[in-house]
Amino acid sequence: MTAMRAYLDYNASAPLRPEAKAAVLAAIEITGNASSTHGEGRHARSIIETAREQVAALVGARTSDVVFTSGATEANNMVLNAGWSTIFVPQIEHDSVLAPARASRARVIELEATGDGVVRAEAFAEHVLCGKFDYARSLMSVQMANNETGVMQPLEDIAAFAREHCIRVHTDAVQAAGRREINLAGLGIDFLTLSSHKIGGPRGAGAIVIRDGAKLPPLLLGGGQERRRRAGTENVEAIAGFGAAAEAAAGDIGRMKRVGAMRDRLEREIEGMSPGAVVIGRDAARLANTACIALPGQLAETLVIKMDMAGVAISAGSACSSGKIGASHVLSAMGFDAEIARSAVRISLGIETRDDDIERLLRAWREICAAREARPADAGTGRASIEPVLGGV
Ligand code: PMP
Repeated sequence: MTAMRAYLDYNASAPLRPEAKAAVLAAIEITGNASSTHGEGRHARSIIETAREQVAALVGARTSDVVFTSGATEANNMVLNAGWSTIFVPQIEHDSVLAPARASRARVIELEATGDGVVRAEAFAEHVLCGKFDYARSLMSVQMANNETGVMQPLEDIAAFAREHCIRVHTDAVQAAGRREINLAGLGIDFLTLSSHKIGGPRGAGAIVIRDGAKLPPLLLGGGQERRRRAGTENVEAIAGFGAAAEAAAGDIGRMKRVGAMRDRLEREIEGMSPGAVVIGRDAARLANTACIALPGQLAETLVIKMDMAGVAISAGSACSSGKIGASHVLSAMGFDAEIARSAVRISLGIETRDDDIERLLRAWREICAAREARPADAGTGRASIEPVLGGV
């Protein structure tokens, strides 16, 4: 029998919800292409349309606004690749926003964040007021909450300002969905990105939600699916699971309060054990489930591996998928020096997290810190002999 583990990496991928698993299993049995007009095809179609309603309800959108994709990376690429002349983008965005922005032909204006991880909305306003832009072909892409720190961004203010200037607004709501209420219409934004596996659905499904009246050219061509907005035969089982997860997540938002209390306790206890620890974004409005903690002198990847061996799954904000150990671009953009940016770990909780999981993490932390104090040579700050194991998730 495998020993019990504590899974505290919900921001990378949340456990599959039972409702989502049931929906996937039911849908995978169904024969039929959702574009076919026969009974089998119509059955597949009806599953997709139910999921569309469930996903729309999670974010206060109209059902017809939801376009299913293979995940949030595709959804973000679709928005950022839409032929903008100018893209405003905070440096703390996820790579699936930053990379297509930088690869596009648009003029890209990157915005800084404060030390608390909040994008400087006034910097956006200054750029807009002082520069010359084709406003109608400009996009501001700002995440709702950061995947590494959980810090929420001043989306309402940014969206209100952008609208005054006819600038389109996109938000990557991947981490915020199911963890706080979202109302697309109330927020006044044009495009919103979601990912199934972050809310307890299966991997390989996501959505771009396009507000009524806003338009996006398709990224994938070659089929009329999704009302010509995304070609390709729909992944019916993943979409079914995504829908079921969205419905369940919407009903569970009230449970995030208890998650927040567990997160606050773990931060307090870690600070008590490791006086040098820095809780990133502590004073900003944050998602209740995320803790980002730097332990100067302790390389994050090393801590992640030691935790893994102790049966605790967390992640390193600083890991990069290229095989080199780099500093987290998010923490660097917040002005932290390399030592902090390379020592930050992310601990992310969810509604299934139990006090036992927190106890296990704290016990492991205590033991790792005690061993480190006994052998200070272990405290590598840069030259790790190990390979990083996680990508920027
Ligand atoms: N945006 C954010 C903020 C994320 O955390 C992630 C997942 N790491 C993505 C986008 C990409 O999501 P997906 O895995 O669905 O492509």
